[in-house]
Amino acid sequence: MLITGKEMLDVAKANKFAVPAFNAGSGQLLTAVMESAEEKQAPFIMAIHPLELEFLRDSFISQVIYECNHTKVPIAIHLDHGATIEQVIHAIKLGFTSVMIDSSHLSFEENIKTTKKVVEIAHAEGVSVEAELGTIGDTGNTVEGGVSEVIYTDPDVAEEFVSRTNIDSLAIAIGTAHGIYPKDIKPQLRLDILEEISKATEIPLVLHGGSSNPDREVMESIRLGIAKINISSDIKISFTNKLREILNGDNLEIREPNVIFPDCIVEARKTANHKFDIFNTTNKAKCFSLNYSEKLLGELV
Ligand SMILES: [Zn+2]
Repeated sequence: MLITGKEMLDVAKANKFAVPAFNAGSGQLLTAVMESAEEKQAPFIMAIHPLELEFLRDSFISQVIYECNHTKVPIAIHLDHGATIEQVIHAIKLGFTSVMIDSSHLSFEENIKTTKKVVEIAHAEGVSVEAELGTIGDTGNTVEGGVSEVIYTDPDVAEEFVSRTNIDSLAIAIGTAHGIYPKDIKPQLRLDILEEISKATEIPLVLHGGSSNPDREVMESIRLGIAKINISSDIKISFTNKLREILNGDNLEIREPNVIFPDCIVEARKTANHKFDIFNTTNKAKCFSLNYSEKLLGELV
């Protein structure tokens, strides 16, 4: 079932769970997260970064839409880190139901200006918008990128940003970084900042760079208002670790994709299953069908 980002995250916020946004940047990873979502009866967001879209080609989105139309599990298709208005319009034309415009590197006023414009365009098409305030770190080796030093989101201006732009969800910087942290760096989430932003704003909050943060910290962030957590590296690492093992094995003749990839899919699926469990998303598909029946009942009455 294909739904918008807003429909997804409003239900998540109201029911105190977070939806994983998986950057499943290949057909095999799409299979892994689809199978995991079906098994766990859990909604998820299919996140696609512009660089991933360029690699996958536009036709990949038709495949994702097909999958959404053939499952009861709610799914939103989301443009991750849209950098320009052109990229956003392209995504909307392809059938994305949610877009992110990331102008976080611009000044506060410029960020508002670009974001507002994207909201006007996207909302006219019924597409939801996520924007970012503050900057998310980067550990290297990711498509998402980021900055080497995190600028924490200022809770004092978060509400102003939300009300002036009319966005549907807000990505905040509370100390996470894209990718996997080097061994000598322990990620420390500033949950105090999250708490302040959560109090000041009404809309669902988004955590980027959610891979390799301790489970208990992530679970606490959900309690404090995080409704979407971006997971890219963790599913890709499970997949490629298995792939490396298979290709480095004794069978030098191994070449058929349908022989090589199934075990890699199983590994990525295990990671996705774990994320659904710790994000409290498992079995939450029913929250959406309930909403729908209630709405329908309301209309009939
Ligand atoms: Zn990100």
